[in-house]
Formats: sequence, structure tokens, C-alpha cells
Amino acid sequence: MADCVFCKIAAGEIPSTKVYEDETVLAFRDLDPQAPTHVLIIPKAHIASAGEITPENSGVVAHIFEVAAQLAKELGLENGFRIVNNCGQDGMQSVQHLHFHMLGGKKMGWPPFPPEA
Ligand code: AMP
Repeated sequence: MADCVFCKIAAGEIPSTKVYEDETVLAFRDLDPQAPTHVLIIPKAHIASAGEITPENSGVVAHIFEVAAQLAKELGLENGFRIVNNCGQDGMQSVQHLHFHMLGGKKMGWPPFPPEA
């Protein structure tokens, strides 16, 4: 997809700090980490959001979770981690290419969103 920053990262046109790559999936460190370990796991093929997952393209999502389990061991997250997907406007998705945030290295809070004012 032209003008998609994560497509450009997947194509090697924009640099990233890769932690995992295969034919269909890439994982790289988030530019603005929200935890001691914060990586983004993406399909290389463009899927705009979790709202666009279909029976035809969902196989890569299962693979992403296999990669996450492997990365947890490699990145020292044996104590646990959190996987977050922001979808659409209300979900505060800022990059319109499906990605899963993998966060770890500290005890998380719950609920993950600020209480109503
Ligand atoms: P979201 O708000 O869920 O769409 O998450 C997008 C994430 O992408 C944010 O955490 C950004 O910090 C991260 N991000 C944006 N551009 C880059 C980039 N070029 N390299 C690494 N992370 C990026």
C-alpha cells in the first residue's frame, strides 16, 4: 500500500529495529516504547485493521501469536506480557496497518484505560 508506513517498514524502505522476520510476519521495536519491552508484530501484507480480518486473511493472525510466544522466550518475557490491538477511531489506532503491540518487562495495570472523568 502506497503511503503506509508499516508497508514501507516491511519492504525495508523505512528503517526499523527488527526482532523477528519471516516471509509473512515482521516484528520490530516501537519508536515510542510504553514499557521496558515494546515491540510491534505486523503481517507484511497490508490489512488495514482488526476490523478487516476475514477467513481469507486470518491465517497470518494465528501465526503472529505463534511468533509472539517465541519472542516472549527470546526477549526475556517469561513472567508474562500483554498484547494490545488498537482498532479504528475509538480504539485510538494511529497507523492503519494491522499491528499487535507486545508489551512486557514490568507489571501492568488493569483496567488499561483511564477512568471516566
Ligand atoms: P497504534 O496507535 O495502535 O496505531 O500504534 C502505532 C504505533 O506505531 C505507536 O506505538 C507508534 O509509536 C508506532 N510507530 C509509528 N511509526 C513507527 C516507526 N516508524 N517505527 C516504529 N514504531 C512506529
